[in-house]
Amino acid sequence: MSLQIPWSSHRLLLRDVTFEGWLVNETPLRIGAGRDSPLGSAVDLAVLRILISGRSVPYIPGSSLKGVFRSTAVQLARAKRLSVCSGLSGDTCMDWDNPKLSTTLHRYIQEALRSREESFEAIKVFHSEACLLCKVFGAPSFTGHAEFSDAYPFDEHGRLVDVPVGVRTGIAIDRRTGAVRRGGLYTVEFVEPGARFKFSIRSTNLPNYALGLLAKIVRGLNEGWVKIGGFKTRGFGKVRVEGLSFTAYLPYSNGTMLPAVDDVDKDVDLSNLVEVVGKQLRAPSPKALQVLQKLEEVWDNANFTESH
Ligand SMILES: [Zn+2]
Repeated sequence: MSLQIPWSSHRLLLRDVTFEGWLVNETPLRIGAGRDSPLGSAVDLAVLRILISGRSVPYIPGSSLKGVFRSTAVQLARAKRLSVCSGLSGDTCMDWDNPKLSTTLHRYIQEALRSREESFEAIKVFHSEACLLCKVFGAPSFTGHAEFSDAYPFDEHGRLVDVPVGVRTGIAIDRRTGAVRRGGLYTVEFVEPGARFKFSIRSTNLPNYALGLLAKIVRGLNEGWVKIGGFKTRGFGKVRVEGLSFTAYLPYSNGTMLPAVDDVDKDVDLSNLVEVVGKQLRAPSPKALQVLQKLEEVWDNANFTESH
């Protein structure tokens, strides 16, 4: 039995990696404010806005980005035959009856946490029973290891930039009859192409292969096979990634990121791509894109079947 604290524990900060950059929409972008438009809105389906320095501006909430990353990660993990839950409410590793525990993982952990001595036991059981994506993105009563900031329309100096919005008229079709619904015209607001949203994804303790999974999804956004927001089937939500930078604070040797304590993880040689600044490894744009590619290789080559 190992006394090593698993990386999914938040007790120790073992590794700290941040990807930052801009998401620039190439097609209309629509992140809705929900079914009910704000009072006084001239459109039926308004875009989500937030008040910054007295101005109401469209933005991309971190929770939306996280949702996109998780649902894409589910597909990528399953394509590698890695067993993961959907992450949807009520359908996570925490919610299922676990035959080994004779209860759900959630209830088991709640019980274990009640007695202080058993909290180490709780994290060990969580680490062995929860899927990779619950550890990365979180699960009921467990904070994940990847944080997605809200993406605001900021320039390089952190100044707010204007975000032009447009409006389109849509026709509501009755799903049962296939006919146009009575009074079935509605207006949809969207962000015009070319808006730049500053984003940041910070991860703690993630093994190199899990960073590679996130890296693959960042590339997916940049290449357009991962889209953001609503009306994707109409071509909305295609973005590119600009000005990407990579910062890592973790054990390394000569520019090589060492593996996390994990059965599957491997090291990554970034010696030609990163500069060492204090205890950090840094890669500004455009080298950060090559770092993504290196990390992605660790994910692609990770063999999860041999570890069990
Ligand atoms: Zn899970």
